[in-house]
Amino acid sequence: MRRSTSSSTGGRAPAPRVEQLGFAGMPERLFVCTPSKLGTYTDCPRRYRYSYVDRPTPPKGPPWAHNSLGASVHTALRGWFALPPERRTRDALPALLKGTWVREGYRDDEQERAAYRRALDWLEGYVGGLDPAAEPVGVERVVAVKTAVLAFNGRADRIDARGDELAIVDYKTGRTGLDSDDARGSQALALYAYAAERVFRRPCKRVELHHLPSGTIAAHDHTEASLARQVARAEDTARDIVDAEKAVAAGADPDEAFPTTPGPMCGWCDFKRSCPAGAEVPTKDQWAAIERF
Ligand code: SF4
Repeated sequence: MRRSTSSSTGGRAPAPRVEQLGFAGMPERLFVCTPSKLGTYTDCPRRYRYSYVDRPTPPKGPPWAHNSLGASVHTALRGWFALPPERRTRDALPALLKGTWVREGYRDDEQERAAYRRALDWLEGYVGGLDPAAEPVGVERVVAVKTAVLAFNGRADRIDARGDELAIVDYKTGRTGLDSDDARGSQALALYAYAAERVFRRPCKRVELHHLPSGTIAAHDHTEASLARQVARAEDTARDIVDAEKAVAAGADPDEAFPTTPGPMCGWCDFKRSCPAGAEVPTKDQWAAIERF
């Protein structure tokens, strides 16, 4: 795989505080979150409300073919690493992919078959560049950590050992390639690294996006300061969410507390049909992203 790497050289940011006692010695209530929960609010507070606050949850749109494709590839790779090293070959892939194939969202059988062949090509190319004997530290491994504000947990696609240190690996199956700025800017990867370092008590500064369609790796080497900045940003987002939820509980208009942020992403939003801003956006076919390959 081609590699693109960057490294953090920014100024030192204060390390996030880890668990502290609040008023009258009582522990402060931590905001329980995953990268997806934080990312949803950052992308669109209204989508966050539909996903995590409103009950019953507003009706979602139909499943997307690109999500099915991504899930199938991720699960096949998990299965590949679950095999004993001597069976981690390209020949093992068709059965693994067939066994985990998610069929939802495709236009028809022909499109689905083409997607399966494409996914198999990606996987064969990808595992061809791996050392089957190299045992990851974790595959789809949940890592969790608490700060003064957050109780974070998330499932990393893979955690590799690189010498004495760890690296976070995230698989990508989207149409476009990624570069080191994507790896540097990913809050999810930074939070995984921050959590993995504490769970495994080993340094974890390296984060990598493995883009299977192009066979490229976009990487970034964080520093203590850059990880601390990402954690601080996550904490800011958590505070904003809590403030919005408190405002609604105190009688504020939920539509104002969780505003819409209309944009190109509305076309791909699961709650487009429930959202006044989404209604203005043309509806995409469930397989639209697959056709763009
Ligand atoms: S349709 Fe757009 S504005 Fe509405 S919730 Fe979804 S992303 Fe937000």
